Amino acid sequence: MASIPRVQASDYRGRLAPSPTGFLHVGHARTFFTAWQRARDAGGTLAMRMEDLDAERSRAVYADAAYEDLRWLGIRWQEGPDKGGPFAPYVQSKRGSVYLEVWRKLLRGGFLFPCNCSRKDLAAALGAPHESGGKQEPLDDEPIYPGTCRHKLGAAPQLPGPMRDELETPDGFNWRFRVPDGVAIEFLDQNLGPQLFVAGVDFGDFLVWRRDGTPSYQLACVADDAAMEITEVVRGADLLKSTARQLLLYRALGIEPPRWFHCRLVLDQHGRRLAKRHDALSLRTLRQRGIPPLNILAAEVPLSELTRNLGRPLPTAQPSHGSLITVQ
Ligand SMILES: [Zn+2]
Repeated sequence: MASIPRVQASDYRGRLAPSPTGFLHVGHARTFFTAWQRARDAGGTLAMRMEDLDAERSRAVYADAAYEDLRWLGIRWQEGPDKGGPFAPYVQSKRGSVYLEVWRKLLRGGFLFPCNCSRKDLAAALGAPHESGGKQEPLDDEPIYPGTCRHKLGAAPQLPGPMRDELETPDGFNWRFRVPDGVAIEFLDQNLGPQLFVAGVDFGDFLVWRRDGTPSYQLACVADDAAMEITEVVRGADLLKSTARQLLLYRALGIEPPRWFHCRLVLDQHGRRLAKRHDALSLRTLRQRGIPPLNILAAEVPLSELTRNLGRPLPTAQPSHGSLITVQ
């Protein structure tokens, strides 16, 4: 009896998309492990994509650490910066032409407008205290845009020819996607069930391109998932609202979106999502302390167990109650 080659078993294409801005922690481990499991169970392909567009914070040492830590957890991928593949390059900083093409398509479709507002203008318009230090906002936490520049350069297709040619590059402006106010965006999450967001209420006109010449997370993510023919996106539930924004981009581009599987967040004992400050919960630290991957991946093991008993390996995972791991 002839065996069926595994590679032809499924058209499933998933991806792992770490950002090399710090060491991966327990939350990343569980999300990436789920992504790997789902690709494996579907007999599909998993692509590694390094999301290093934040040039200021991205470091090669973190990218190398991510490969190493994920392999240590038992996660394997078939395409990526280290493996090559049909959709190379798999590093976002090398994919500028892909993003520019998507920006042009959105501009010609009349979906974008240039925005001159400074961070200070936005803060003033929103009546929010001006955040000092020029820190970048969290990925999915863009404040609702007050609409100041909304009617500039409304629909590019109506522009006279020469003016359109001048707009071959987004340089020098922030560019925003004009959301259809009041429109409900619904999708079925494969893990969390039906989701509903309202454009203009849950989020406003969002950034697709930054003045400094880099595409936003929303644009780069959609451009890459589409170009790499990803069929299911597995990521953290902190990105649910980004999914609603990205569905608007898919619709504007006339591209069929992938399926979505958002993983519940791992929160610390204060109810905050894990971040770079949780050094004790970085995979690096836990591995150095001899904690086995099983303990890190088992949702039943409280985070307090992982950070206790310094220097002493834990026994294998045991279901436990009074867990400090909460779900959103
Ligand atoms: Zn503006």
